[in-house]
Amino acid sequence: MRIGGIEAGGTKFVCGYGTTDGTIEHKTSFPTGDPDETCRQVIDYFTAHPVDAIGIGAFGPVDVKEQSTSYGTILDTPKTAWRQFPFLSTLKQALGLPMKLDTDVNCAALGEVRFSAEAEKPSSLVYITVGTGIGGGAYIENRLIHGLLHPEMGHITVQRHPHDTYGGCCPIHHDCLEGLASGPALEGRYHTLAQMLPEDHPAWALHAYYLGQMAANLLLTLSPERIILGGGVMKQPAMLPLILEEADKRLCGYLQLPKPLHEIVTKPSFDGLSGLMGAIALGTDALQAQGAAQ
Ligand code: ADP
Ligand code: ZN
Repeated sequence: MRIGGIEAGGTKFVCGYGTTDGTIEHKTSFPTGDPDETCRQVIDYFTAHPVDAIGIGAFGPVDVKEQSTSYGTILDTPKTAWRQFPFLSTLKQALGLPMKLDTDVNCAALGEVRFSAEAEKPSSLVYITVGTGIGGGAYIENRLIHGLLHPEMGHITVQRHPHDTYGGCCPIHHDCLEGLASGPALEGRYHTLAQMLPEDHPAWALHAYYLGQMAANLLLTLSPERIILGGGVMKQPAMLPLILEEADKRLCGYLQLPKPLHEIVTKPSFDGLSGLMGAIALGTDALQAQGAAQ
């Protein structure tokens, strides 16, 4: 079986395929353009590289409810050309394959769970990406959660650092978590590219102040066995230890954790590939669901 995966991001699309065990055999990427042109590129890719099913991890907000008539439609995104675009049904109509769609971060969470070693496979895991935006996907007690819409963990309110006067860069809430701790927030606050800042720059402790709050809040709310922190900002090696320190401080020893915090809050196991691997896992599920329905 050859399963396709699409990571449909706001800035770039990754298309690829692999086997059901998560081995990626081929992938390519291209910038996200308008919906028609971008779908054309996706369709051309899977016409040239035929697959048995496709899983899609999409930027949002997007309708992720399988029972909904607008399942797979992009909702009110700041990318205006994509608003109300029936993404999944456009691809389904053109390719005629079993397909499933979820959020990009839910796919990354699924990839991290599905392909982790059997002995340590968690039943609950949250995947957070800290990049251009902040997003979170949750796999809780063996399934991806959607709830009312789908989680938008990047937009939670965090306690502002008493010395932080930056207004925040979220166009909607200004100083939500994404507004204060994403890559653009760092760049807005320090007027330089994140990758240019040295490891001992105070920016990292400030960002960790916010991201540590998120990690502590996730342990207190969803109680996941693992919290995975991915995305461009996490490439800075100083970040993870500072986040662990802040989360530990916030928890004040209240939770009787069965293992050390650094074994719970970690970097991704499949750096840069969790999303595509998760999309392939979702494609595998789509194929199985079709088989079961027949
Ligand atoms: P996206 O969120 O668009 O998918 P990324 O996850 O790669 O993309 O995140 C891009 C952001 O990550 C940029 O805004 C930049 O600020 C930040 N970034 C990229 N490289 C580094 C680095 N080496 N260290 C810290 N931050 C980085
Ligand atoms: Zn926000």
